[in-house]
Amino acid sequence: MSFDYDLFVIGGGSGGVRAARISAGYGAKVALAEESRMGGTCVIRGCVPKKLMVFASAAPAEAAQARGFGWEDATAGNFSWDAFKVRLDAELNRLEAAYTKGLEVAGVNIFHQRAHIVGPHEVELADGMRVSAKHILIAAGGRPYLPGIPGDDLGMISDDLFLLDRLPGRVLVVGGGFIACEFSTILNGLGVDTTLVYRGDKVLRGFDNDLRELLTMQLADSGIHVRLKQNPARLDKQGDQTRVTFEDGKVEDFDAVIFATGRAPYTKGLGLENAGVTLAPNGAVAVDEWSQTNIPSIFAVGDVTDRVNLTPVAIREGHAFADTIFGNKPHNLDHGLVASAVYTRPHEVASIGMTEDEAIQRGGVEIYDTRFRPMKSLFAGSDARVMMKLIVDEATRKVLGCQIFGPEAGELIQLVAIPITMGATKEDFDLTVAVHPTLAEELVTMRQPSRRHEAPAPA
Ligand code: NDP
Repeated sequence: MSFDYDLFVIGGGSGGVRAARISAGYGAKVALAEESRMGGTCVIRGCVPKKLMVFASAAPAEAAQARGFGWEDATAGNFSWDAFKVRLDAELNRLEAAYTKGLEVAGVNIFHQRAHIVGPHEVELADGMRVSAKHILIAAGGRPYLPGIPGDDLGMISDDLFLLDRLPGRVLVVGGGFIACEFSTILNGLGVDTTLVYRGDKVLRGFDNDLRELLTMQLADSGIHVRLKQNPARLDKQGDQTRVTFEDGKVEDFDAVIFATGRAPYTKGLGLENAGVTLAPNGAVAVDEWSQTNIPSIFAVGDVTDRVNLTPVAIREGHAFADTIFGNKPHNLDHGLVASAVYTRPHEVASIGMTEDEAIQRGGVEIYDTRFRPMKSLFAGSDARVMMKLIVDEATRKVLGCQIFGPEAGELIQLVAIPITMGATKEDFDLTVAVHPTLAEELVTMRQPSRRHEAPAPA
């Protein structure tokens, strides 16, 4: 049977673009449909603009630190959202064009419109055109999830922040995950009166407990009004403000409410039922370790599969798919050991592998940890403490996890992820000569375990 294409990719985000480009490089005839801007969530309304906003928001604290080093008049001055926005838009346009160009050069046929599946080998485009393909790859990503309380449509989602004409004066951020922590940090740094409301007792559920405690304290210390064990119950319009009624009955008005209450796989209207593609109970496209659905010709990568919802994971999944199907190099991604970072300020949270809570459950581990005030911020008069922790298997001596709270912790975890992925032992870390004076040298100079968690007694 002959098809119009070897591969049709639905979604021009990180996973879809990588899969399309690599597949085309292997000689496959590839088409890709994207209904919005090329680059997807990460490039257009996620990681990239977010990190640029993190940099912008750090300027006042950096100026304060400069004063501590003797630059007595240092000040960040007035922040111009307009000036920043012009540069931000230009950068996103540049990146979007680069993504499009990369696909075009690779020979991928791009359809700038929505596509949905009509059968195991067929998709229909928004203009009604039908196209057949030997393989279909779903890379449609995720969408913010709203909590479903009355009036939640009055709130904003993180996507909206990048489109604002002006910064609101007083904002409520709802949630305690990646986006809530990062966006409340950004808004606070930019001078917005920011309140973070989270239903739990400390932010970043699922992360190492020490990281959670330290970040919760840092958010409050940096001037964000952190309200824990609290949640909005309803939103109402109140003139040009949003009136929030909290679950304990308190009522307060904000210029804007931002929901950062998680994301869900974007499968709506994809036509999965037309081909009989099975969904997981949480609504994600169900796939095996080869990113293959129950329909042999249909695959899925990235957030739409809700495995590990991070850009580099989607990229790896897309690349592995292309190598396997078109490159005659079958391999898949081990989702077990993926580093991540939360870009807060002044200190970031970064993590790979086992947390101490998991270590306690498992037993047979040593914990090496250290807390200290780094020389740079200490000199400038700050009391902020860094925390680094290694979790080591007592029997094999392998480093099973690393947890860091500190400046540029994301950069540190990227490097320490290499030996940990390679299976390095604590003794390999000990053999490594420190680079002095750095923050990261602490990772190779922790000699004595701070505590041990015993293996559970045999039943
Ligand atoms: P997260 O899953 O990280 O956090 C969602 C937060 O919303 C949690 O604190 C959760 O609370 C809370 N929540 C969920 N439902 C409700 C509700 N009904 N009412 C009140 N609170 C609720 O999602 P995010 O939206 O922060 O981010 C989405 C994903 O995007 C992340 O999981 C991550 O994969 C990715 N991301 C990665 C970044 C990075 O790598 N730096 C940055 C930004 C996003 P609870 O914990 O109690 O369930």
